[in-house]
Amino acid sequence: MPSDVLYEVKGPKTILEMTWEEVAEALKETDIVILPVGSIEQHGRHLPLGSDTLQGTDIVKMVVEKMGKDGVRVVAAPTIQFGISYHHMKFPGSIALSSTTLMALIREICQSLYSHGFRKFVLLLSHGGNLATLNLVANDLSTEMQDARFLVPDWLPVMGAEYPDVLSSERPKDEHHSGEGETARMIASTPKLVQLDKAAPFYPDEKIDPYRKRPYPGSASLARGDIGMKEITPIGHMGNPLLATKETGEKLYEIIVEWLCKVIRTEFVTEE
Ligand SMILES: [Zn+2]
Repeated sequence: MPSDVLYEVKGPKTILEMTWEEVAEALKETDIVILPVGSIEQHGRHLPLGSDTLQGTDIVKMVVEKMGKDGVRVVAAPTIQFGISYHHMKFPGSIALSSTTLMALIREICQSLYSHGFRKFVLLLSHGGNLATLNLVANDLSTEMQDARFLVPDWLPVMGAEYPDVLSSERPKDEHHSGEGETARMIASTPKLVQLDKAAPFYPDEKIDPYRKRPYPGSASLARGDIGMKEITPIGHMGNPLLATKETGEKLYEIIVEWLCKVIRTEFVTEE
């Protein structure tokens, strides 16, 4: 089946969908480009492996649209589909890059975009596991390209802080990977790929819950290869996806996009 039978441009185009002339036109008005970095990793029985990548593309398009309405043109780069997903590898279909490979990929994409005139780069988190790598590559690139700036906004805690108000779950702080919040965003994004009939509530054993409260102040990151997502959640998700609705998903997208636009405007527009 030719892809144009399925293909529909939704919202503003990304570079994947633009012509070179359209990018050249945009460059006359802006040097801001947003590069979402997602993942192909299992998302439970009810969501597709590309959930993070699909959400990243949604978010970047919404940011381009909202900033455009507010008079600031920004360009969306195509979403990097693959990320740091080693902890999901016991589930078939998950694809994991090492952080060095992901850094090399981001570096060469940014170098290409830099050569065309982009100077302000937003490395848009679209999978929590990519955060450390995005920060590392942003630091490296900022020393290599002295007149460029690299912004890594982490919207996850911002959205998480709103979960008690927005979600209907009685355990909003336990709605994580493919739980109520993420399933709601996927219903708002790509309902055809959500299979709620395969979903059921699942909360991990407290002893191995990666989000459990630690009995010491501050944070410490513990890397271990013997416990991955399969041990924490045999079916792949954490939370109750059955509570998810389109309205909740749209509300969460709104919170994320509002915050991102504010951050990008503050760092790259207002404080120039
Ligand atoms: Zn996800």
